[in-house]
Amino acid sequence: MTLKFHNTATRKKEIFTPLDPANVRMYVCGPTVYDFAHIGNARAIVVFDLVYRVLQRQFSKVTYARNITDVDDKINAAAIEQGVDIDVITEKTTAAFHRDMAALGVLAPTIEPRATDHIPQMVTMIKVLIEKNHAYEAGGNVLFHVPSMEGYGALSGRDRDEQIAGARVDVAPYKKDPADFVLWKPSTKDLPGWDSPWGRGRPGWHLECSVMSREHLGQPFDIHGGGLDLVFPHHENEIAQSQCAHDETLATFWMHNGYLMVEGEKMSKSLGNVVLVHDLLKRVPGEAIRLALLMTHYRKPMDWTEGRLSEARAQLLNWYRLMPAESAADESNLNASDLEEFDAALADDLKTPAAIAAMNSLADQIQALPDGPERNAKQAALQAAGRHLGILQSSKADWFQWLPVDFPLTASKIDARLSDRIKARVEKDYAAADQIRDELTQLGIALQDGPDGTSWQFEG
Ligand SMILES: [Zn+2]
Repeated sequence: MTLKFHNTATRKKEIFTPLDPANVRMYVCGPTVYDFAHIGNARAIVVFDLVYRVLQRQFSKVTYARNITDVDDKINAAAIEQGVDIDVITEKTTAAFHRDMAALGVLAPTIEPRATDHIPQMVTMIKVLIEKNHAYEAGGNVLFHVPSMEGYGALSGRDRDEQIAGARVDVAPYKKDPADFVLWKPSTKDLPGWDSPWGRGRPGWHLECSVMSREHLGQPFDIHGGGLDLVFPHHENEIAQSQCAHDETLATFWMHNGYLMVEGEKMSKSLGNVVLVHDLLKRVPGEAIRLALLMTHYRKPMDWTEGRLSEARAQLLNWYRLMPAESAADESNLNASDLEEFDAALADDLKTPAAIAAMNSLADQIQALPDGPERNAKQAALQAAGRHLGILQSSKADWFQWLPVDFPLTASKIDARLSDRIKARVEKDYAAADQIRDELTQLGIALQDGPDGTSWQFEG
């Protein structure tokens, strides 16, 4: 299967050919650990988890590095606000990030380097940039001198005026050029800092990715990924640092996922519409959140809505209904031809909407078939497709009995309450039966009375 990805650097969809087919290397900018991950953060992580899965199917070895930014002014601000040590914030937030992403079916990357473990390498890189006249010291700061690099701005396609406008957030009198950006800045006593030839200080954000990608993947490597908002200035500056320090390209493929809105509006703290994965997981299974994120092609802007989430959950419900009752489908029964359409969609720049449509076509076929080997083979294909997307991996029973982590009742306790309800009905104590229904409804459990008895589902 030929993989094609859109390359931000060339603005074209290109055939993906790894530099070393024996070891495909990908770097993705990970979280700054100061607060819970929101759904926009999750989109990037899920998208590149899918890239990782697609690469793993195609190549024998994939090395995936996704960093943790554990030194940042937002972390310092959170520590001051909460009156705790910086480590408390970064440890707690990193653990929450791992928990939330695991619930979304995100695989652990091969390497998860932390910025604070790479300070000496950052200092070395700054020294090299100063020696090569690409950086200069000014009052305890070290800045990258943007005009020193020919071709700066090629990734984002921003011209000089746009670069200056973008960099203006931190205009400082010591800058030689308004577009220059920080490699190192001084730390006061109350802020985290490391000794350096330029005094006690801390690195600028862009530097860590240049250092950690080279350290763990080498340079150049195959794919560098992240959200569209990182193209400028973050990725542009990573390229500037890495190319100027080492006279080599940083990465051959640049992949970026599109923006995310919430109910038609920009997501922001001031609007109070920030959707945290942590909160969503209190009321919907992670697979539903993951599918909702994959229903839109990764490069397109996405509007995150309650309707989309319900749609994803209903879609999964439909697929799970078609799965074998007792255990997982036996994937040794699979006909490769049943996955052709699905695989072709994913190989073509991760066309997830088309891949999902291919799964629905399998679902239609399962629906139309009587029990038997043919139906089993289609079930196996649907399950395998789900696995390749990182969904449809629960047992049917677990899916239908899904409950949020801190739910007051267990599934068996709910089943026991349903038995009590049947007993009350048999005894014609309808008031007691209704009371049990009301009690469960209040907890978000919807009951469905059918010919085979009563089933339940947590609807929140
Ligand atoms: Zn980065």
